[in-house]
Amino acid sequence: MSVHGPIAGAQRGIMASLSEDDFSCPVCQEIFKNPVVLSCSHSFCKGCLQQFWRTKKTQECPVCRRRSSRDDPPVSLVIGSLRLCLFYGRYGRLN
Ligand SMILES: [Zn+2]
Ligand SMILES: [Zn+2]
Repeated sequence: MSVHGPIAGAQRGIMASLSEDDFSCPVCQEIFKNPVVLSCSHSFCKGCLQQFWRTKKTQECPVCRRRSSRDDPPVSLVIGSLRLCLFYGRYGRLN
């Protein structure tokens, strides 16, 4: 089984063109590994999130404590959306 798919390749390409600060996991402070995004739009490494959930015995966001109804968070394919969130967070909303 290979870990090198089109998705992994795309993520590597996107990450290479952006600064590390924009893509660090709030749990481990490292660049996301297998980034997943929760319904509250916070992103984490899949491994970090699952470990956090195991430890807490509840499926809540490590940042905002919002409960997730899913036990298998969707993989963040469009990691660029995270950058958009940061952009709007800094400069305010469009409307
Ligand atoms: Zn992490
Ligand atoms: Zn959250």
